[in-house]
Amino acid sequence: MDGYRKGIEQIIRGIKTSPPEENIFSDEEPEVVKGRLVAKAQQLQEQSEYLNNHPEERDESSPYECEVCKDKIWIPMRRFKHDKETMILEEDFFSGQINPKEAWKWSIKVSWECWCSKRKKEKKRVDKLNNQTGLSRRFKRRTFENFTFLDPAEFPNDDREQVKALVESQKSAYNRALEYANNFQSLKEDGRSFGILGSYGTGKTHLLGAITNELSRKGVQAVFINTTEFFDTLRESFEKDENGKPISSTRASEYIEMVKTCEHLSLDDVGKEKPTDYVLDVFYRIVNYRYENLLPTNFTTNASLEEMENQMGGATYRRLVEMAAGYMKEIIGESYDQLLLRKK
Ligand SMILES: [Zn+2]
Repeated sequence: MDGYRKGIEQIIRGIKTSPPEENIFSDEEPEVVKGRLVAKAQQLQEQSEYLNNHPEERDESSPYECEVCKDKIWIPMRRFKHDKETMILEEDFFSGQINPKEAWKWSIKVSWECWCSKRKKEKKRVDKLNNQTGLSRRFKRRTFENFTFLDPAEFPNDDREQVKALVESQKSAYNRALEYANNFQSLKEDGRSFGILGSYGTGKTHLLGAITNELSRKGVQAVFINTTEFFDTLRESFEKDENGKPISSTRASEYIEMVKTCEHLSLDDVGKEKPTDYVLDVFYRIVNYRYENLLPTNFTTNASLEEMENQMGGATYRRLVEMAAGYMKEIIGESYDQLLLRKK
């Protein structure tokens, strides 16, 4: 520690008084040292940006949520005089690598905001909006771990074949959904999405909720919405009062914007009812924006593909189905409620 303190003292002297004649710390040319330390600081900033765009690659065993800033968010830096882009780490400034004669050039102390801060703020916003939709409490309980499959043995003989078929298709959808959640970081590069078809009460919403929860846990900006409720929000968003003023709140427009731009969107229960043309038009623009920008957009539906196309229009339908191509699963069979009534 003595060398460290000496280094600080020498640097302070270098700033305040005439610089000492010799550099006891480094024989390197100042330009070489500068290049090395600036590159190091840049690398750290890039690492921070990369990890926050690829949250799955974070070291999960680390005690810190953010390995780069050790959860401090603000990283102390020194800025080069007259050039705010050129920075080195404060700890390197005090490590004795900077020639005291050069120290005055690094006298401006700044703090650099780690990328994780942006993601944390963003996550708060998504959580808040997910809470506002009122679905969060329901879907937060829906995880891959607590998805239960029926046991055919518990049903009367007449129903067993049917339960077996249901469970088989559920397992296939479950495995695909899990695989999707686990490979999301590479799938999202192409905007790959997931779609689940099947009748009411067969676990579709649970699987979509499980994907959303899993991604959200990994730091992905994942939004889950009930499509019918979202259509209501869209309808309200362009209703006006008698003075021609919009009645919709800023919150609603924030919500619509979030649905349009979030990293991962889950549309539960599409194809249920036909909204007005205006709602459909706005919905198309949202889906098209996500399609054009390769933003994954998952869905569940009770409807057949034909019904879905009729309800939302060919263009929206084709984009949703194209995004989910290769990751579309159908759960075959009756709803749990119907089967459970006949359980032994
Ligand atoms: Zn950080």
